[in-house]
Amino acid sequence: MVKAKVLVVEDDSVQASATKEVLTKVGYEVLWAEDGINAIKIIKTERPDLILLDVMLPGMDGYEICRWLKIEETTKGIPIIMLTAKKDLSDKISGLHIGADDYLPKPYNELELNARIYALLRTKALQDELIQKNRQLEELLQRVNYMAITDSLTSLYNRRYFHDVLSGEFERSRRYSTPFSLVMLDIDDFKRINDDFGHSVGDSVLREVAKILAGSIREIDTASRYGGEEFMVILPSTKKDHAMIVAERMRMRIAQHSFSGLNRNITMSIGIAGLPDEKAESGEKLIRCADLALYRAKEFGKNRIVAVEASELEYAEE
Ligand code: GH3
Ligand code: MG
Ligand code: MG
Ligand code: MG
Repeated sequence: MVKAKVLVVEDDSVQASATKEVLTKVGYEVLWAEDGINAIKIIKTERPDLILLDVMLPGMDGYEICRWLKIEETTKGIPIIMLTAKKDLSDKISGLHIGADDYLPKPYNELELNARIYALLRTKALQDELIQKNRQLEELLQRVNYMAITDSLTSLYNRRYFHDVLSGEFERSRRYSTPFSLVMLDIDDFKRINDDFGHSVGDSVLREVAKILAGSIREIDTASRYGGEEFMVILPSTKKDHAMIVAERMRMRIAQHSFSGLNRNITMSIGIAGLPDEKAESGEKLIRCADLALYRAKEFGKNRIVAVEASELEYAEE
């Protein structure tokens, strides 16, 4: 077991040696500082588990040191026992008021000193354990949250998160009359990639495509994997003609990229929908528009971009 480190801050060297002897006998590692400046230096470098702090010290007195330690984020968790020759009750009150954890009048009783140190160290250990457990829980929660919204193959957002973002961004754009674009992308003839090169090469192509898409958008945009080899990109505050430019950049990058494990290039078809569009009254309707646009891009020969308005949708779905 690691010995607990106790720092004794005491200007009287006779008193300090006596205390040091008492504590060493119990099994603590004991450090000694004779004034405030040295105390702070040792606290910063040695990180003691507990401090026995004399009130009457040359220069900075015990109260000042205590106040300083309890303000500092890195030292405020270290328990402090104030020791003073003054048996005055007001001393005790001011000691505890500025944040000391306990108080003992000098000369102290050895057994009492040890009992108080033991109690404070135990409380400190329990607190540390709780902090540690909380931290672990928070990390776990973050991981779970991340997993809930992330596609495990590509690390893009997943379909569920896409729907959440779409409805939020759609409502916002409608309310503030700002433009908004939705881009739907589908790899052309992906089935053949799997057939010719195997499923795991297919997977790595999906990951590389995802990387290219994620690298082609701004911080405020959202790229997600919508289905097997289908992707959705949400572009807030973006007019359709600008979304066309973004989509063209993606189409080009994919078409020019040499994918690992493949001896041929890959292309994508892209459908675009967005606001303003009088007849698009929901995010779901925009998805249908983008889907129709993508369908047309495929029909017209793939490796191209098509945009569709909601009015065409009604006509096409009749
Ligand atoms: P089109 O140009 O019309 O889009 O043709 P396509 O072959 O890309 O489209 P289709 O929908 O016929 O095939 C999609 C293929 O994507 C079929 C499926 O096996 C494959 N796929 C879906 N999810 C995954 C995946 O996670 N990994 C791999 N390797 N393949 C997948
Ligand atoms: Mg003193
Ligand atoms: Mg496809
Ligand atoms: Mg598809």
